[in-house]
Amino acid sequence: MGPNGNMDRRRFLSSTAGLGLAGLAAAQTGHGQEPAKLAINGGEKAVTLSSKQPPRFGEPEKVQLDAMIQQDTLFYWKGPQTTAFTERFQQIGGHTHVMTCSSGTAALHIAVGAAGIGPGDEVITAPITDVGTIIGVIYQQGVPVFADLGAGTYNLDPAGVERRITPKTKAIIAVHLGGNPCDMDALRKIADAHGLILIEDCAQAWGAQYRGRPIGTVGDIACWSLQNSKHITCGDGGVVASNHESFGPKIQQYGDKGFNRISGVFESFSTNYRMSETQAAVAAGQLTRLEGIVAARARLGNLLTEKIAGAPGITPHEVHPEDRCVYWFYMLRVDSTKLKCSRDEFHKALSAEGVGCSPGYIPTTVHKSPVFQNHAFFNGPWPVKLAGLTDMDYTKQETPEAEAILKTSVRVVITESMPEEQILQTAEAIRKVAAYYSV
Ligand SMILES: *Cc1c(COP(=O)(O)O)cnc(C)c1O
Repeated sequence: MGPNGNMDRRRFLSSTAGLGLAGLAAAQTGHGQEPAKLAINGGEKAVTLSSKQPPRFGEPEKVQLDAMIQQDTLFYWKGPQTTAFTERFQQIGGHTHVMTCSSGTAALHIAVGAAGIGPGDEVITAPITDVGTIIGVIYQQGVPVFADLGAGTYNLDPAGVERRITPKTKAIIAVHLGGNPCDMDALRKIADAHGLILIEDCAQAWGAQYRGRPIGTVGDIACWSLQNSKHITCGDGGVVASNHESFGPKIQQYGDKGFNRISGVFESFSTNYRMSETQAAVAAGQLTRLEGIVAARARLGNLLTEKIAGAPGITPHEVHPEDRCVYWFYMLRVDSTKLKCSRDEFHKALSAEGVGCSPGYIPTTVHKSPVFQNHAFFNGPWPVKLAGLTDMDYTKQETPEAEAILKTSVRVVITESMPEEQILQTAEAIRKVAAYYSV
């Protein structure tokens, strides 16, 4: 097939034989047997619709902010906005202990602090995540250990986690990447069998559900981010929550300089990660929008999966049928052995069809980034290594599936304001490009 998309009838039929009728129709133009000419080659765009995000802030936030202006303090402790946020938050997962804080990174640092992670303790986590998952582990002088991921879920592979367990392992941080719940039953089982603390990073998973249960309720401690890019936001902010009888009461102090505001003494050592009433007011308003946002994303993401099923060389985002994935992003994988194009060529062609998409996610797995490769965490030698508490060498830690995911995936934008028809067009674009490049 030439660059202009022409190929003879026999070749076209053989290349689309595995597509089924729907794929065949999508791969055809309206006039005959030729595959549709790609937009990148001057053909018609498959996606003609676009959607504009409605304003993210409005009446619910204004109501809280107006109430806040009447207060004579903007401090979190017993603050009405913090209380309003906390109560609304507790309606989702029923957590007994909740601490608002300044970021998702802060939430995770608070969690590992409250969990008692100390010098040399190993914490197993995912190599594809925001670095905020890991920063707190290093600040507590723990040692992040990276386990490999599932090829289609992009989440921790429980067998990979088990292989990384050593006598020094103390905790697992499960990251629900893209809003897709991890296999929590398997991770819980591993944690219980080895006496490990299970922490959930729900930063990308607001409103997600694992087997019908709210995300963040299987682990011992769970963390969320309210940073601007997340489903709901107050610009920057975070939440830590727990039902655990010993870790739960500690999350407040670990977010507040180690100060127990009930006993009035400094019981722990930590930094100041408090959230102000201003942030809590906006976040409390945002929580009223959450269900609408995540229900729409869950529906649209699942629809996309349904409509691209069977497209040659394409693996849809793998979600367990009993879970609710909230698609902070939708990520598919491109199999270059089944397509005559590279991932980057696929992405360019898909983008030209009018699909909002980008290749991969983070540029490298977290431990392949320079600061990890150089173990340069504290402007000098890594204290735990200097003290002989670890022999970790990130230049030797391998997570081949995670590397492959970053090199072979395309992220497709899904927003709650997209009309269903735009998702159908997006699916058509994916099928069109896949059919064109199909071997
Ligand atoms: C955003 C994010 C964080 C960090 O949150 P911040 O609020 O940006 O500090 C941590 N983990 C994951 C998975 C995230 O997406």
